[in-house]
Amino acid sequence: MQKMLIGVLGGLILTGGIIPAEAVIRAMMIDGQNNHDWKKTTPAMKKILESCGLFQVDVLTSPPEGASMESFSPQFSDYQVVVTNYNGESWPEKTRQAFADYIRNGGGLVVVHAADNPFPEWAEYNEMIGLGGWGGRDEKSGPYVRWRDGKVVFDNSPGPGGSHGPQHEIQVEIRSATHPVTAGLPSKWLHATDEIYNRLRGPAKNMTVLATALTPPDKGGTGEHEPMLLAVDYGKGRVFHTVLGHEVKGMECVGFIFTLQRGAEWAATGKVTLKEVPEDFPGEDLVRTRPLE
Ligand code: ZN
Repeated sequence: MQKMLIGVLGGLILTGGIIPAEAVIRAMMIDGQNNHDWKKTTPAMKKILESCGLFQVDVLTSPPEGASMESFSPQFSDYQVVVTNYNGESWPEKTRQAFADYIRNGGGLVVVHAADNPFPEWAEYNEMIGLGGWGGRDEKSGPYVRWRDGKVVFDNSPGPGGSHGPQHEIQVEIRSATHPVTAGLPSKWLHATDEIYNRLRGPAKNMTVLATALTPPDKGGTGEHEPMLLAVDYGKGRVFHTVLGHEVKGMECVGFIFTLQRGAEWAATGKVTLKEVPEDFPGEDLVRTRPLE
């Protein structure tokens, strides 16, 4: 049985898609402002989440850039997990407080790519995302975080936070074989062409580096193993952060798809029931994708 939900709440556009009967986890996806093509990436991620049968996704679109944000007051507590595809203007203070309280009290959060760019001055948000880039972030935001000699290393040297070169394929290496999001995955996968962030900085508190990639200097990288997938504990809440997903073609990578599904389930519930690695999961030197458009 399926039903369609379309509503307008408090001046905000709330669109719900097809809801599979077996969906059990309610997810809110936030978009509306982003220097990326959120009008394409939001439907792609909604499709990723709903296609595994675990999620019912509602999309909450903020007022556009330059409009008053006063009406932006999502009912976070109606959801088990918030997926942010938002990189835009500040939220009202009461919304920030409600969001921080929601996560602190056990809500889930998934942060995708440029959603780690906004709110450089919002300390709680930066603790939630673990690492962020741009917006004036620098050594005052926290360390660079790298994987060296089998462990996480904090690098407090001064410099800006956030950098990338031209898009390219990259090998992602799993760094936690025991975390529910990455358990059982092949130790390396070749990720489809994407924009690969490096030099992110942040508080990096209560943060687990789940996967890294060696970013090549000839493609705007650092020559360091930079974090690609992160898990953060914030109060009773859980945060899954993927720095991948610049546009839909990168999201079509089955490595992105499966880690987003698992990451969202873990953020929502603390567990992962999606145990079985898909047969079309990428190989160490083989990109595998599924069409999302
Ligand atoms: Zn990007």
